[in-house]
This record gives sequence, C-alpha cells and structure tokens, in this order.
Amino acid sequence: MKALVKAQPAEGLWLEERPIPEIGPDDVLIRVHKTGICGTDVHIWNWDEWAQKTVPVPLVTGHEFAGEIVAMGRDVQDLQIGQRCSGEGHLIGKHSRQSRAGKFHLDPETRGIGVNEQGAFAEYLRLPAFNVVPLPDSIPDDIGAILDPLGNAVHTALSFDLVGEDVLITGAGPIGIMAAAIARHVGARHVVITDVNDDRLVLAERVTDVVPVNVAREDLADVVPRLKMRQGFDVGLEMSGNARAFDQMVESLVMGGRIAMLGIPPGKSPVDWSRIVFKALTIKGVYGREIFETWYKMIAMLENGLDVSGIITHRFPATEFEAGFAAMRGGSSGKVVLDWG
Ligand code: NAD
Ligand code: ZN
Repeated sequence: MKALVKAQPAEGLWLEERPIPEIGPDDVLIRVHKTGICGTDVHIWNWDEWAQKTVPVPLVTGHEFAGEIVAMGRDVQDLQIGQRCSGEGHLIGKHSRQSRAGKFHLDPETRGIGVNEQGAFAEYLRLPAFNVVPLPDSIPDDIGAILDPLGNAVHTALSFDLVGEDVLITGAGPIGIMAAAIARHVGARHVVITDVNDDRLVLAERVTDVVPVNVAREDLADVVPRLKMRQGFDVGLEMSGNARAFDQMVESLVMGGRIAMLGIPPGKSPVDWSRIVFKALTIKGVYGREIFETWYKMIAMLENGLDVSGIITHRFPATEFEAGFAAMRGGSSGKVVLDWG
C-alpha cells in the first residue's frame, strides 16, 4: 500500500510502499478514504524538538481519517464489513484508575496513531475495534476526516454551559473557528474570535456568525461596550497557545468567568496568577476528546444542523501531499484534506 512515512530523522515526509497492516483478533482493517492534516503532522514534518523526542522512525504518520471497514478480527462484534467510519486515534490502556472509571480520555498510558503507533496517512489502517466510530450516511468522508479536530473543538466548547453566554475565543485556527460554530450552534449570545492574521479572521466569518477582532490592530476592550456586554466575556476558549492571548482573555473575562484551555503554550509561560485569583476564574485544561462522549455529541450536532464544511479550504490527492503540507505551513489555511482514492 501507499503510505506517507516519516522515513528518516529529518525534515519532510516520504510517500512509500509499505505492507498492509496485519490485524489482531480485536482489530479492524480500514480502507482509508480521506485524511486531514493536523498541526501535529506539521511538527512531525518539521522534525522539531518535540517530534524528535516523541516519534519513532520509520512511522506511518497521520491520525485524522475517514474510511471503510474491509476486514475484522475474529473477536470483533457489532461492526460490519463495508461500514463507513472514522475513529479515535488515541489508543488507551484499560488498567489505569481513570480507564477503569470509564474516563478513557484521561488514561496516562495513551498512545497516538501517527505519533507513537502506525498512522492513518495510508491506504489501509489497523485500528482496535473499540476505537471505531461508525459514520451515518449524512456525514461525508470530508467531514469524517476532520472529526478529530472538530472533537477537540467540541470537547473544549462544551466544557462550560454556553447558552446565552458571551464567549471569547482566542485563536482563529481551524479548531478555534470550529469552536465558534459550535458556540453559535448551542446558543451562545455573542461569539467574538481574535487572531493576528486577517486571512484567518476572514475565514472565521465565512464559516460562522462571529465577531472577528484582529488584536494586532484593534483593542479587544472596545468590543465589550460595542456589543453592549456588561463587564466582559462569561466564557473564554483559548485556542491559540499564545501567552499574550491568554493574558488578554484573563483581562476580558467577568468576575467568576470560566476558561477552557486547548491551546498549547510553547514551554513555560509567565501568568499573572493574582488576576486569576482576584477574578475568581475557573481554568480547565482540555486534552483530546472525551472517549466517546465527545464523538456522540459531535455526530448528533452534525446531524442537527451544525455546519463546519467551510473550514475545509484545500483538497488534494494524497500523491500531492507536498502541496497540502505547503498550504498548512503557510499558516492561513483552514483544514487541508488528502484523498486516498
Ligand atoms: P493554529 O496554529 O492553526 O491556530 C492558532 C491561531 O492562533 C493562529 O491562527 C494564530 O495566528 C493565532 N494567534 C497567534 N497569536 C495570537 C494572539 N496573540 N491572539 C489571538 N490569536 C493568536 O492551531 P489549531 O490547529 O487551530 O489548534 C489550536 C491550538 O490547540 C494549538 O495551540 C494546538 O497546538 C492546540 N491543540 C491542542 C490539543 C489538545 O489536546 N490540547 C489538540 C489539538 C490542538
Ligand atoms: Zn489532529
């Protein structure tokens, strides 16, 4: 099969012939149709410090996918050959206290496909049947291929009640923009999204009904009276990983405001803790998706009018992966989807 492989400990990825994975009794074999390129894949392409200490070489990369089950291990039940599916890319253990309590997304032994284990940028993917998420006919493969990052957005956005609330999202990357669409869908009052890149803010407005603010030029404090908010935002969703964005969020929230934090700051960042204490803010770190509650909510919302299709800005055949990665590395794209035929 064709696969996009981290074949050498150096910048880049290589499209290579690899054997079709063998499956165990509890696994399925998935014929991959579409995959999404993630920021994580760009780190692996760039072979930065994180990638060097995390990723074994050689490794088939990629973890965002949609496809169809073509073979099943002998102990697999409740799935069928031909079933269209996506799936959770975090492979969890069943022995930790968290897993045994059903909090699978908090298992400390989690391993990621395309990061620690063979991934989805390939014609075929081996996945434990446990991780499979069947796709209803109403969800096309393009959207199936971006359910992993949509799940990050759903997990973050549903961390706090947003009904009637004024919501600030810092960072209009693909995940921030999808979080804005979710906040709207579930009934937030005002949804403001910030970035320092106009292309991203234009994309945000195309995808959903948000107030875009370029914080490189505009003062976020001006938006509060303009939208007739009282003291500030009720809920913040941090989606940039930028320390200044986080500071701005702390400044812009009401007393007792709540922050869900998905963005990953690079290394240690200075934080004005006294502001957080005196404002009595709640901060929740968000990792991955809830397995499988986020998947359930996400599919239900997609079946009931949540539309994030506009976030896909580029589509390429898998053989043109270099163009796909160039679009991602440009920093202004939405989601980039590769077609595995
Ligand atoms: P992205 O890099 O595409 O988007 C981040 C955006 O933040 C960019 O558009 C950038 O211009 C913007 N930004 C930079 N400085 C800013 C500032 N001062 N104010 C406002 N915006 C600013 O990232 P993405 O793929 O959308 O992911 C969002 C974040 O979530 C990233 O930090 C990513 O690493 C993280 N992430 C976390 C998890 C998790 O499990 N916790 C999973 C996936 C992604
Ligand atoms: Zn991803």
